[in-house]
Amino acid sequence: MTFALPKWTLVIHGGAGSMTRDNLRAEEDQAARAALSAALDAGAFILRDGGAALDAVQAAVRVLEDDPHFNAGRGSVFTAEGRIECDAAIMSGSDLNAGAVAGVRATRNPIALAREVMDRSTHVFLAGAGADSFGRAHDIEAAEPEWFETAERRRQLDEILADPDLPFDSAMKYGTVGAVAVDADGHVAAATSTGGLTGKKWGRVGDSPLIGAGTYADDRAAAVSCTGAGEYFIRLGVAHEICARVRLGGWNIEDAADTLIAELGDMGGKGGVIVVSPDGSGGWAFNTRAMYRAMATHETAPEIAIYGDE
Ligand code: ASP
Repeated sequence: MTFALPKWTLVIHGGAGSMTRDNLRAEEDQAARAALSAALDAGAFILRDGGAALDAVQAAVRVLEDDPHFNAGRGSVFTAEGRIECDAAIMSGSDLNAGAVAGVRATRNPIALAREVMDRSTHVFLAGAGADSFGRAHDIEAAEPEWFETAERRRQLDEILADPDLPFDSAMKYGTVGAVAVDADGHVAAATSTGGLTGKKWGRVGDSPLIGAGTYADDRAAAVSCTGAGEYFIRLGVAHEICARVRLGGWNIEDAADTLIAELGDMGGKGGVIVVSPDGSGGWAFNTRAMYRAMATHETAPEIAIYGDE
């Protein structure tokens, strides 16, 4: 007797930015690849066993949130006031259920909190101290501010405060994290988590936790997670727009992703997306010099890349 193995695809990212082989130290390059590999393993472990795409994207993002190098959870960037405020979102393509949080300061894994909002509240999006209180009331693991803080992010804040006109990705070497997956049942899911932009002020929230902008999943189309200059992704509604072109326009996900990134570039925006479709195809598009990214499927070995020429 033969057994069919579950079919699945998992794609993750750790942010788009200006990394090159010259400006990224060998240790940083290796640490990033090791973290991407660990995150892929965490998601693949679930999918390989016939588990849900939704659980897989959450597991993959959690690994990257806990890694201090990436701008999500531990290692998030500082606001202008020297605080850390995290945003995250998760979405299930089978029922269009979604959960999101913004400006979270006391929850260890913002993606777990977004999942809890989705599963155990009647709301989709909670912000600020209220979101942290919801997490405490639901036994989601809390963390002190020091858990999130790293010396490198302090240094980057000082750099930005000294020169507020620095472009979005000039100093960015580790970014936002995200995952998209399709499972053996053909369900897709997306998750994104970020500390936002270094030196952000006035309660600024980017695209990452906004359902339709930085994160979207729909079994009729695709799952999408974005990274980059959030204001442009919000204005174009990139994640939903990719799904709309697939669902209504009959585009394939590759053309939809490439076109949206081109349109973002025409507006002056920089960044990237990862995508999967319910048929199992997956990939990425970006217009920055580099993007931390990785992909694995039931039949292919993990592919891990950083620079534009990989
Ligand atoms: N998109 C994120 C934001 O605007 C930042 C990033 O992806 O690097 O908050």
